[in-house]
Amino acid sequence: MREEAVRSPNDAGEGHDDTAAIHQERSWRWWPGLCLALAVLYVVLPYGRLTAVIYVVATAVAAAAIATACRKQRRLYRPVAWWLVAGALTLTTIGHGIWYWLDLLGLEPFPSTADIFYLAAYPLFMAALWLLGCRTDRDDGALSDALIVGTSATVLGWALLISPYMQDPSLSMSQLIVSAAYPIADLILIPLVLRLIFLQQTRILAHLFLLAGMLAYLAADLLYAHGNLVGWYAPGGFTDWLWLLAYALVAAAAWHPSAALEPFIHASNAELSRRRLFLLSVASVLVPAIILLTAGWDTKLVRVGAIAAIVLLLLVMHRMDGLLRDAQRQSEELARLARLDPLTGAVNRRQLSDDLGREMARAERTGAPLGLAFFDLDHFKKFNDTYGHSAGDTLLQELVIAWQKDLRPSDVLARFGGEEFLVVLPDTDMETGGQVIERLRSRVPHNQTCSAGFATFQPGEDADAFIHRADEALYAAKDAGRNRLVEA
Ligand code: GH3
Ligand code: MG
Ligand code: MG
Repeated sequence: MREEAVRSPNDAGEGHDDTAAIHQERSWRWWPGLCLALAVLYVVLPYGRLTAVIYVVATAVAAAAIATACRKQRRLYRPVAWWLVAGALTLTTIGHGIWYWLDLLGLEPFPSTADIFYLAAYPLFMAALWLLGCRTDRDDGALSDALIVGTSATVLGWALLISPYMQDPSLSMSQLIVSAAYPIADLILIPLVLRLIFLQQTRILAHLFLLAGMLAYLAADLLYAHGNLVGWYAPGGFTDWLWLLAYALVAAAAWHPSAALEPFIHASNAELSRRRLFLLSVASVLVPAIILLTAGWDTKLVRVGAIAAIVLLLLVMHRMDGLLRDAQRQSEELARLARLDPLTGAVNRRQLSDDLGREMARAERTGAPLGLAFFDLDHFKKFNDTYGHSAGDTLLQELVIAWQKDLRPSDVLARFGGEEFLVVLPDTDMETGGQVIERLRSRVPHNQTCSAGFATFQPGEDADAFIHRADEALYAAKDAGRNRLVEA
């Protein structure tokens, strides 16, 4: 794991120290500890009014813990997201209040008004998880990967727990719809939280707590749906405990100091680790495997599985498309860098020889004139000695910018070496070439001067000979006292 992959929200520079300090702080354990203690009490005591109150209080404690974290925790990353989580748990607390009240009165709590509050919590959870993993940068495939795994996991849960009981004729429509609503909402939550895990390059424990919390939530939702459809669910048992565990884990996430850290987006889509690829492969194969195993005895599940398999295939293709685009972008960038001088951005010698060869062949073919100018800055060593080497570098960069502005798109400006430049001037004879060169010479930055040698192409000569004649003219210009143009 790379430490530099973590940045603190307010000050990128402090990220490194934070990460070390974060894993040593211990005080975050109090709130989730309290939630867990209440959860244990709930399971141990016989079900009744007292345990119902404990349950509602435990949920309220988790909501309060997160709200307190928002107010007290130093530099919590994306506090808005955590406020939304606190809001979601508050709605859930109200839902529990209604549920137990109905149940203790002997009324049917499923489905009931309680479900409206439970279900209303989901959009808040979704918005919170979305915000935590959302930056202006590209997403880097984390969302598609999360959707792939999430889709597959939900189909598996559906196949194991929900599907076998969906055909039960004794169930009412509302029972079926409400039962299905929870796993479907989880279908959205799980990918969002997985995305957070996929984004991080260093371990952010807060997000792992969130993942564990959402998985406990999913497990409880699936068990509850199953228990209600089959009829084994009774309050006070393991399923309820799983929910309390989920709330405790979410409270732990908000209070863990690593909640201050921002998940860092990978540099590129093309980073797909072996482990992640393995996970994606398992997820993609799981759904067709379910179809294969259930084909024949449950046509509805086969249909769900087939749709999921199509979605998975599209997601995988989308992911591949992202990888391909990145690879293409990188190879174009590499090709561009291979042609250019890194300091000035002028064409380098390798590219010059291609361009000059092409222009010479054209001149040979068409008989059009072709000019070649060789430049060398005067007393550049002295400039470096006086103003420093980096001022010299800057001058070279400014020179290239100024000259490129002055030249036609068909002209080629190449850095030949050090402070020496070659300019290929197609369709340019001795006279126009002379004017172009004088104009370029007058644009050398910082009142510096340069000498130039100019040659026009003679049919039949090769590139070395052509360059050599321009170079000899340059030497002549230097010998004649510099700051001048000599024509070959
Ligand atoms: P002359 O008029 O005879 O050309 O004198 P000069 O000092 O320009 O010539 P010389 O060839 O002796 O020195 C060239 C200098 O250019 C030497 C080196 O310090 C400088 N130089 C070469 N490449 C770079 C570069 O990339 N950056 C900087 N800042 N200086 C460079
Ligand atoms: Mg020089
Ligand atoms: Mg030189």
